[in-house]
Amino acid sequence: FAPWEDPAARPFIRFEGVTKRFGDFVAVDSLSLDIYEREFFALLGPSGCGKTTLLRMLAGFETPSEGRILLEGSDISTVPPHRRPVNMMFQSYALFPHMSVEKNIAFGLKQDGLPRDQIEARVAEMLKLVKLEPFARRKPHQLSGGQRQRVALARSLAKRPKVLLLDEPLGALDKKLREETQFELMDLQQQTGLTFVIVTHDQEEAMTVSDRIAVMDHGKLVQVATPAVIYEYPNSRYVADFIGNVNFLEGRISRIGRNDVELVSNDVPCPIVAIHDGDLPATTGDTAWLAIRPEKMRISLDAPEAATRNCVKGEVWDIGYLGDLSIYHVRLPGGQIIKSAVANQTRLVERPIGWDDTVYVSWPDDAGIVLTK
Ligand code: ATP
Repeated sequence: FAPWEDPAARPFIRFEGVTKRFGDFVAVDSLSLDIYEREFFALLGPSGCGKTTLLRMLAGFETPSEGRILLEGSDISTVPPHRRPVNMMFQSYALFPHMSVEKNIAFGLKQDGLPRDQIEARVAEMLKLVKLEPFARRKPHQLSGGQRQRVALARSLAKRPKVLLLDEPLGALDKKLREETQFELMDLQQQTGLTFVIVTHDQEEAMTVSDRIAVMDHGKLVQVATPAVIYEYPNSRYVADFIGNVNFLEGRISRIGRNDVELVSNDVPCPIVAIHDGDLPATTGDTAWLAIRPEKMRISLDAPEAATRNCVKGEVWDIGYLGDLSIYHVRLPGGQIIKSAVANQTRLVERPIGWDDTVYVSWPDDAGIVLTK
């Protein structure tokens, strides 16, 4: 059982009807959310959706206008930041430029009046944890971006917080380093056993590192679930579109079966059939959308056998070569573009399907999901 599936599990962090207003502007809107101990939790959403404000309230830099924030059952809503067992690592890292790596890491511990031998032991432990032992005497400007990021991590962990907050922690790193560092962050979280809450607008990053993701829109939670559920079972077009690439085919519901649903679409000549989990919030005649990921769309030069449903003819409009995949843009007769991602499993450069070819795009019943909002 994952803790969020266990009704008896007690949340580690609880947001209870939390609202944050700046003047008349509502940045976070009566939001309730539970995060569990040792979870790697991601807050994801477009710029301005309120994710940083939520994180800052957890850190204590902002106070909720309404509602409460609980940590292990105690209300911490008005506890000042330095008295919370919560630490935040900022995107800018905020390292002291004139101090060595070890002095940067020791800074907070000194301020807390920890004895010298304990500070030394803790700094050594942190340097080892982030693999920066050979760099202890260097100044920040003598380090690479990735190394500076690790100093900032070590400094945030040195005080042994119970929760580490990460505000776009990898934003300053280039793509390759960023991807490597995501795995290091996951290892670090495993090793320390802490609860990590990360804010990011990068959906791939959120999917890679986290146990669960909360997708936010205008100060509200839209969906909270594991990366796989968010990707495969988004609860709205907003979430489906925010997480990765997706095709939407609009139609009208013509039949709702116990576990399947049929749409009639102007874009597709035959019926669209998809399976559902038994409680589709819709009735016959409603407008709905089939949301389907490009990698689940097959394309072929010949009509698939028994193409009585889930199939449409189009013309190859564009092909994007990404190395591992090629993305085909197929233009339907009505002008809509459908994306199909095809894995490049051989080194064959010659493609069997090329520009301007007439192709059939088809998909199985369980490949897509019908959304009603
Ligand atoms: P980004 O990824 O751009 O940081 P975000 O999702 O983290 O976006 P927030 O920083 O939480 O968004 O901001 C949410 C909204 O609240 C924004 O519209 C922002 O302008 C507003 N806001 C944040 N802090 C303040 C403040 N101190 N005073 C007034 N408005 C604020």
